[in-house]
Amino acid sequence: MEVSPVRPVVVVVGAGAAGTLVALHVCDAAVRAGQPLDLVLVDPAPEAGRGTAYGSRDPRHLLNTPVGAMSCRPDDPGHFRRWLCRHDEQVGDGDFVSRYRFGSYLGDTLGRAVIGARETVRVRRLRAEAVRCDWPDPAGRAALLLADGRLVHADRVVLATGPAEGGGWIPQELREAPGFLARPWQTGALDAVAAARDDVLLVGAGLTAVDLAMTLARPGRTVHAVSRTGLLPARHADVPLPPVPCPPGLTAERSPGRLRAAVARHLAGQRRESGDWRPAMDGLRPVVSRVWQGLGAAEKAELMAHGMTRWNTLRHRMPPATARTVQRLEATGGLRRHTGRISSVSPLETGSFATVLADGARLTTGWVVDCTGPGSETDAAPGSLWRSLLDSGLAVPGPLGLGVATEEGRLLDEQGTASRALHTLGAPRRGELWETTAIPEIRVQAAALADALVVSYR
Ligand SMILES: Cc1cc2nc3c(=O)[nH]c(=O)nc-3n(C[C@H](O)[C@H](O)[C@H](O)COP(=O)(O)OP(=O)(O)OC[C@H]3O[C@@H](n4cnc5c(N)ncnc54)[C@H](O)[C@@H]3O)c2cc1C
Repeated sequence: MEVSPVRPVVVVVGAGAAGTLVALHVCDAAVRAGQPLDLVLVDPAPEAGRGTAYGSRDPRHLLNTPVGAMSCRPDDPGHFRRWLCRHDEQVGDGDFVSRYRFGSYLGDTLGRAVIGARETVRVRRLRAEAVRCDWPDPAGRAALLLADGRLVHADRVVLATGPAEGGGWIPQELREAPGFLARPWQTGALDAVAAARDDVLLVGAGLTAVDLAMTLARPGRTVHAVSRTGLLPARHADVPLPPVPCPPGLTAERSPGRLRAAVARHLAGQRRESGDWRPAMDGLRPVVSRVWQGLGAAEKAELMAHGMTRWNTLRHRMPPATARTVQRLEATGGLRRHTGRISSVSPLETGSFATVLADGARLTTGWVVDCTGPGSETDAAPGSLWRSLLDSGLAVPGPLGLGVATEEGRLLDEQGTASRALHTLGAPRRGELWETTAIPEIRVQAAALADALVVSYR
């Protein structure tokens, strides 16, 4: 691709929420700084802004974060609400709208940012998967190879590739069975199971499982959801109270046991005071990364082993409307929860699946859907972008194998040096930040990264 030597080139790999947020903030930052640049957005997906989370057209698939926390612009919390109101949806900051709407908002906001920056930023969109990244090439730049054979040279690369593919637990025989869905959010993945009537097993009982239960439930069908704790995500309050600041001592706590106890006390205290523990939980969210970074490797490992499941069910909550639907489904037998590990899932000759739980319970279902969530970049498949970065030592696994090692979003190489050219945000920063996978965190990272990228050329 032709590149002008005087215009730095920023390539953003991934046009999901994170890549879209970076791209729109780069446009804004370049205009503010009067810095001309070329911006290349690489993703095989047809639309920017959808990614895994915001492509579902089922209107029951709501954001699990209220409107007031989903603005693209961290310094303008009302931006998303105003966009919705301009598009005929009269909503307040505490409402939950469909995820599809949010994807449309991201795409539209990017489009406007691109138009606003057209004198300064030249934008290219390449619909392809990036499969390899080398740095530095003989000219000191990054070279990105796309699956279609094109080579893109860049001064800076932002790896906005989202959560790594999960499903490491899935045996090959199961993966290849026609009724097994490993990637339920892929476009069209649910069509066949939604059209059928036989029972479904959801492996996992988090937010994905809850959404799929709503989509797949129908008269005469039981949707089973199995997880180790059997717990569903907590629900948001009908009338949310504002977050309560974290108690001062808690952020300095370094012992996992005392940390767990301090969090439990804080939540219980708030429930006694206001009748609701959620404001205490929401007040912890901005300090989670600071607490995480203050812990040693052993303490992080201890927390991961004990306490994160409970944390996740309280932290990742379902909207009230979703909770009501799920309650109704459970009451009518449309959804049945099972607690415990799965001992085996075997495809049968009939096309169904026989599942045995650790307590001996047996289920026969027509479909099995993996809802266990993301895996790790370190398991990236041969021939993939992250595999190339890990194999060449430009990236190394993050603490406890969570994401990749980063320092303020720059990739750390095998010498522990922070890359000048390779950046990431969102899920790949889990090891550095722990709390990094949702929009309220990603938008702050995107805005800061865009400023840093633009300033680095001046
Ligand atoms: C079902 C679901 C619901 C959610 N709901 C919410 C919510 O309500 N609120 C909230 O704050 N968060 C929510 N989240 C969290 C969500 O992960 C983030 O909000 C956000 O969508 C993450 O965006 P991302 O761009 O990092 O990742 P993704 O959405 O996964 O996007 C990554 C993009 O990168 C592309 N890509 C990957 N590798 C390559 C490559 N090698 N070359 C080119 N392109 C590549 C992919 O095609 C994809 O388009 C939800 C997550 C899920 C799964």
